[in-house]
Amino acid sequence: MKIVCIGRNYVAHAMELRNEVPAEPVFFMKPETSLLLNNDPFPLPDWSKEVHHEIELVIRVSRTARKVDADAAAACFQQIGLGIDFTARDIQDQLKAKGLPWEKAKAFDHAAVLGKGWIAKTDLAHPGAIGFHLQINGITVQRGDSSLMIFKFNQIIAHLSNYITLEPGDLVYTGTPAGVGPVRHDDHLEGFL
Ligand code: ZN
Repeated sequence: MKIVCIGRNYVAHAMELRNEVPAEPVFFMKPETSLLLNNDPFPLPDWSKEVHHEIELVIRVSRTARKVDADAAAACFQQIGLGIDFTARDIQDQLKAKGLPWEKAKAFDHAAVLGKGWIAKTDLAHPGAIGFHLQINGITVQRGDSSLMIFKFNQIIAHLSNYITLEPGDLVYTGTPAGVGPVRHDDHLEGFL
């Protein structure tokens, strides 16, 4: 399986990092080895001084998607979950300044946290407005809503499938809302969907 992540998908987050709002989805990938499951502890890497949390809605692909349009994309996933796209922001800033790829800052071991819970699209009263938030030590630090995504689920799947065949079991992290910030040793992170 593979993990594809969307960057800059909320206007307020793009602005907080002084990035321009993209005209099409920005994406990058993480390897399967970056997955952190079962609420296991996240070991802070010793080569970064600033690892940021990015809480994100996650699509689990259920049907092969290859060059599908947005309407057909809807049939390619049934469940939405929650994850954290951990990012070594200091390293990413260095890479961005040099125009280099982001993998070192994004694809490292344990950088893709995946929650245990999944919600079926059919169980959602308002599938276009899924609220979620992240608490650190009991304090809410990020709050998002899928209605604020620049590119919605179907558009994301359609766009990605133009370039990369998505297969059942693949995960798509759909971008983080504003409020990203550093995590520290012994912080307790809790996501709500
Ligand atoms: Zn992200």
